[in-house]
Amino acid sequence: MKNIAIIGGGFSGTMTAVQLIKKASSKLSICIIEPAGQLFKGAAYNSYSDKHLLNVAAAKMSGFADQPEHFLNWVMAQDTYKTKDRELTSNSFLPRNIYGNYLFSIWEEALQLATAKGIEINWLQNRVTKLNYSSTNITLQLDNNTNVTCEKCVLATGNMLPRNPLIHDSSVLDNKNYFQNPWQLSAVINKPKNLPVLIIGNGLTMVDTVIGLTEYGFKGTIYAVSPNGFNILPHRHNGIQYKGLDEELIDGLTLHQIVTIINRHIKSVREFGISAEPIVDALRPKVQKIWKNLSTQEKQQFMSRLRHLWGVARHRIPLHIHDKIQTMRVEGKLLVKSGKIITIQENSGVFQVGYWDKKMNEKIELQVSSIINCTGPETDLSRVPEHFLHACLNEGIISQDPLKLGIAAETTTYKVKDQKGNTKHNLFTLGSNLKGELWESTAVNELRLQAEKLAEQLLLENQ
Ligand SMILES: Cc1cc2nc3c(=O)[nH]c(=O)nc-3n(C[C@H](O)[C@H](O)[C@H](O)COP(=O)(O)OP(=O)(O)OC[C@H]3O[C@@H](n4cnc5c(N)ncnc54)[C@H](O)[C@@H]3O)c2cc1C
Repeated sequence: MKNIAIIGGGFSGTMTAVQLIKKASSKLSICIIEPAGQLFKGAAYNSYSDKHLLNVAAAKMSGFADQPEHFLNWVMAQDTYKTKDRELTSNSFLPRNIYGNYLFSIWEEALQLATAKGIEINWLQNRVTKLNYSSTNITLQLDNNTNVTCEKCVLATGNMLPRNPLIHDSSVLDNKNYFQNPWQLSAVINKPKNLPVLIIGNGLTMVDTVIGLTEYGFKGTIYAVSPNGFNILPHRHNGIQYKGLDEELIDGLTLHQIVTIINRHIKSVREFGISAEPIVDALRPKVQKIWKNLSTQEKQQFMSRLRHLWGVARHRIPLHIHDKIQTMRVEGKLLVKSGKIITIQENSGVFQVGYWDKKMNEKIELQVSSIINCTGPETDLSRVPEHFLHACLNEGIISQDPLKLGIAAETTTYKVKDQKGNTKHNLFTLGSNLKGELWESTAVNELRLQAEKLAEQLLLENQ
């Protein structure tokens, strides 16, 4: 019997297992290794708050590319939504926890199918600490000192914790009131009333954290410091399908040409009083192809000059959440600053933070009770020595793309590439590990397709 191990039980790992179960026609053993206490949800869909919403409308969140209404149908069958209007629900941004429950229901159904097909499933609540590679099999060492040996292994390790700020005295980052993991409840509870809280970062996780702090009773001032301090945007034109780019964005264009075309289209829709969002949405399905065709130099230019703009345009929030954030800003409860953290010191439970304020062009000192790191997942594996992928990188089993955004891999077979650029026939990856290859490789609409194609690949190789 062939056996496959999947490291990580978030959306990517779960859906790869589900697709394997659906598509398998011969005996198979699947082992999923995931340390999280909650089954199969990942950081995104296992939130401490029901106020944390999906950033994609329900109509576009099906777990299966070939059944676009699968999530919506599931939602409409739940007691809380049975009486709600279907059209309204389909355009709504539902709580992420509901999506976690949906994933769990998909998994339960898949388990039944696995039993009927005689597919063996093992779920291990462990962390992989070491991957020992050979071309015939792969042995995974777990944190309970046991081993799992498999013929094929999928790296579905998803989102890493954010990178710590680079400061002189890094021991301060061991303080219990510095939170490298912004997605845990402890980051937002029990804050003293008399001191502000500092959030590093100004994106979607900042918004989640502000919502979490407010929900758990924090009434003080919140600072959010990020390099650009861009305003986060709401979803305003949900549903407009802009087709104007289709003919112009042909293969072989340089980054400069692409940006010129896009800017021209943005200008033309603005004449109708419409912002850039429909253009960004129309661009989204083309991004992977465009990225693959860019040179390394162009990718570097994108990262240094356009990445933050793209991030703001692409990561939008529901309008009512945006209103709440804006109200807090107007009331002075949320102060968004553009700058760079330079120093952090701690004395008697108070952090003294110095940041270079871009607008004021001077160093500003803040006193805060907690620091919550919302800068987004780390992608450079050389900076995460505690993770087994770091050792894989050092041993040359895997390699990174030149920009260190993910793991180098073939994007048609999902096989990872070693240090010499050779593909490993029995080691695969998907999801955010493919960011360096595809740039956009994070959202459900991308991952569901990858999980399906990867399962086909794993089974094809098994024959
Ligand atoms: C807060 C948040 C909200 C999001 N909201 C949306 C949304 O609304 N819509 C959307 O389309 N996308 C959203 N996303 C994007 C999201 O990344 C994907 O939708 C999806 O959840 C990613 O799943 P994943 O399995 O690839 O990664 P993850 O969910 O990060 O799962 C990876 C898993 O691997 C495990 N793992 C890591 N290392 C090891 C190890 N050594 N041993 C064993 N297991 C390990 C981790 O414990 C983790 O559970 C959101 C992301 C975040 C972080």
